[in-house]
Amino acid sequence: MASHCPHCKDRNLHPSRIETDLPALSCDGCGGSLLSLVAYRHWRENQPEQAQHTAESAVLDEVQDTSVALCCPKCRHFMTKFRVSADARNQIDLCVHCDEAWLDRGEWQLLDSLALAGRLTQVFTQPWQNRVRSTEAERRAEQLWSERLGTDYARAQELREWLRGNAQAREILAYVNQVRDEIPR
Ligand SMILES: [Zn+2]
Ligand SMILES: [Zn+2]
Repeated sequence: MASHCPHCKDRNLHPSRIETDLPALSCDGCGGSLLSLVAYRHWRENQPEQAQHTAESAVLDEVQDTSVALCCPKCRHFMTKFRVSADARNQIDLCVHCDEAWLDRGEWQLLDSLALAGRLTQVFTQPWQNRVRSTEAERRAEQLWSERLGTDYARAQELREWLRGNAQAREILAYVNQVRDEIPR
């Protein structure tokens, strides 16, 4: 039985290749692909190390991302979304029942450019997702500090970095902290 595209719904998926030796099912309408993680693991095992190559940025202009919930074309369960990295808004949909991932148009190339094509299954783990979230939280906090400190932010950052690598950081802070009482509130 033909599988329907989870995105376009009225289109069938047809056999395709994401890489020369990595088969998938793709949709001509939206350019998305359904990738079996079984096929992916098989492909990964046969990849020489350092086979990562960087996709052309021209291809990355076409990256799309589905924000709506998708139904797995095989079992009709809702797929789960996984953030790829803190640098990309993209989410990859995974059916945890079938072990099938849905890649929107350009998302494979995006993974490749982030050197993640060979580590796709790691993206679906809790530690990975936690890391994406904490990196994002750190960035938001930095953003708030930069707004609060304005033109002094760069200088403060520099000072912090300098203290971070300094064995006497505590002493220096204690010394600097003396000005605290002199600062008007
Ligand atoms: Zn489609
Ligand atoms: Zn499924």
